[in-house]
Amino acid sequence: MKKDILSLLPAELEQELESLGEPKFRAKQIFSWLHRGVRDFDQMSNLPKSLREKLKENYELYHPQVLRKQVSQLDGTIKYLWELADGNAVETVVMQYKHGNTACVSSQVGCRQGCAFCASTIGGLVRCLEPSEILDEVLFSQLDSGLVISNIVLMGIGEPLDNFNNVMRFLELVNHPEGMNIGMRHISLSTCGLIERFDDLAQRDLQLTLSVSLHAPDDETRSKLMPANRGRGVQKLMEACRRYYERTGRRISFEYAMIDGVNDTEKHARLLAREARSLSAHVNLIPLNHVEERQFRPSTSGHMKAFIKILEDEGVNVTVRRRLGSDVDASCGQLRRKMQNEKNPRPETVE
Ligand code: SAH
Repeated sequence: MKKDILSLLPAELEQELESLGEPKFRAKQIFSWLHRGVRDFDQMSNLPKSLREKLKENYELYHPQVLRKQVSQLDGTIKYLWELADGNAVETVVMQYKHGNTACVSSQVGCRQGCAFCASTIGGLVRCLEPSEILDEVLFSQLDSGLVISNIVLMGIGEPLDNFNNVMRFLELVNHPEGMNIGMRHISLSTCGLIERFDDLAQRDLQLTLSVSLHAPDDETRSKLMPANRGRGVQKLMEACRRYYERTGRRISFEYAMIDGVNDTEKHARLLAREARSLSAHVNLIPLNHVEERQFRPSTSGHMKAFIKILEDEGVNVTVRRRLGSDVDASCGQLRRKMQNEKNPRPETVE
């Protein structure tokens, strides 16, 4: 089996070159070609032919293909559906904000977390993405769109903490000064709350933003919406958030999709305000995106306003996410889902 060369860190690449009997300085050259999007060893023009041949023999390289690309007429948001080497597909969304262009990347093919409102989880988990595949989402979105990506959110398909090692390696790669050099402060990692990973993440002392998909401040509502809450619970989640905040000094952000009649009452707002304030957490409200296969509806604007007012009166830092790309299915898993419905109604599932 050929090795996935793009997933290697520079020090590992040096070791590989040594074992091939080549000088270490070649590692830097190769890393630089790879991270500029070159996917053909023969295009690495400063490497001798003999080395290029050895690389071809030992390593695999893949150029992800655009299966579908949709550009929003409303705000220029671009949604890509990428085909991976094994024929699976994942989505990446590029959003243009004032503070910079942001890529929303997937970390798994499908998802096993089962959130009741989410499209990504409908066919279950197929497999985790390799670090190289996540990196390529950012790199080829930048190359194809011509938009310089300065920010990343791990908020596409999949649960990043369920693919912990590969996601950590992706972060090292994308953050590397000889690579895309995207600063950790410009990266957000979103999780449904796999708290057993929070301490590991905190220990790495990354300056990224941890976004926690809370969606309900009480166990009754949250366990209904998010199976990941069952057996863990909101209080344990809050304790894990506190440890993370204390250890890293980085404020947590709570994602909260407003669902009509489910999590948008005054009672929910007050409970949420209490938890957010005690952690100095930021609350990001998301008007629920309607997913065809799901029965949930977004909250009315009246309920949203009342909810926001309670949070603000309690001194919570709250924002409402702008809906970008609503004309291009730019939310979680919807494009991949559509493709699957067209091609194959029951995708292969791995648990
Ligand atoms: N698995 C991770 C990241 C992927 S989803 C997580 O759970 O955080 C990114 C965000 O979109 C999460 O907050 C998720 O709960 C939310 N989301 C999923 N489906 C949604 C929908 N239909 N409407 C609004 N937000 C949704």
